[in-house]
Amino acid sequence: MEHQKSFIPFLDLYKINRPYHERLKKKFSDFLEKGNYINGLHVKKFEESFADFCSVDYCIGVGNGLDALTLILKGYIVLNELNIGDEVIVAANTFVATILSIKQAGLKPILVEPDEDTFVLTPNCIQHHITNKTKAIVPTHLYGQLAPMDDITALAKKYKVLVISDAAQAHGAKTQDGRMAGGLSDASSFSFYPTKNLGAMGDAGAITTNNEKLAKIVRSISNYGFSKKYVSTYAGVNSRLDEIQASFLVEKLKDLENTNQVRRNIAKRYSAEIDNPKIRLPLWDGSEDHVFHLFVVRVQNRAHFCSYLDTCGIGYLIHYPVAPHQQKAFSEFSELVLPITEKIHKEVVSIPLNLGLGDADIDKIIMTLNQY
Ligand SMILES: *Cc1c(COP(=O)(O)O)cnc(C)c1O
Repeated sequence: MEHQKSFIPFLDLYKINRPYHERLKKKFSDFLEKGNYINGLHVKKFEESFADFCSVDYCIGVGNGLDALTLILKGYIVLNELNIGDEVIVAANTFVATILSIKQAGLKPILVEPDEDTFVLTPNCIQHHITNKTKAIVPTHLYGQLAPMDDITALAKKYKVLVISDAAQAHGAKTQDGRMAGGLSDASSFSFYPTKNLGAMGDAGAITTNNEKLAKIVRSISNYGFSKKYVSTYAGVNSRLDEIQASFLVEKLKDLENTNQVRRNIAKRYSAEIDNPKIRLPLWDGSEDHVFHLFVVRVQNRAHFCSYLDTCGIGYLIHYPVAPHQQKAFSEFSELVLPITEKIHKEVVSIPLNLGLGDADIDKIIMTLNQY
């Protein structure tokens, strides 16, 4: 199928980055000339630009999105605001990295069913899982959809627990009154993995926060726990944002508002024009709280639908095929029964939505889904 001329791939990263090639070549030759490979001016510039973009005081570049979240949690442990073994509420349907970060920090993930229509945690989902051991809530803005952060932070305030957002899929998502993902909770983590809405050409991640103490500590822990060169204050790790990736990200960040709008425009067409009772579309009111990292539809007979897409030459992916509590790596959750999460994992299919699609591709995708 892949070689069929009219095949529409799920994602073609080469095509998506092609418009940046000339700009990135300039960045790369500048990088070669400067000879500064780690923690140079490009990292500083990106951190400033991204903090500005998210309207927060601090951005700390790190190695990837998993480390970003882990470092926030470890930072709060250093600050004594979290303690080893504390319970952390997380969506049961999130990407495994969210759960891994909680475990890596020595905390206890409490898997909670998401809202069935929006895939994200709401106060309703969270409320009855809060115990006196709960010390943090980690909502994921899954597929690019903001969790209802004002309601979640209000709930968190009531129970005096931290809110840390996994914003790896939601760069640029904003509330009705224009407040950005990254500035809606105590701290947020981002990934710039190449497929994300803001994607590097390799691994990269960042932490955003308005908390000066936390910012200092995560910066230190991400760099061996040094408080200054060769002075080890914490037992840290090595997870730094690469200078070359930072230089690319500075360039690509300039276009993020536009590229997110293009994504929303495609989502608008899908929402308006895909009309098939066998295909359940994502619930969305058209606002900018969604940046459509993924366009996820639901079908009853997924195997049948996917083989139809194969036949029609349309790429797709499943985000995600197996729920975390049913994965071997998380055997401690194997007794859990989570019907909403399990149903989501059985039904979801992500169809192509990206900057590489032309109008003809979008037409074909809509037509193909309507003919199913
Ligand atoms: C991509 C992703 C991560 C992890 O990011 P990496 O950079 O791959 O470590 C974490 N959480 C979510 C929701 C993601 O989509």
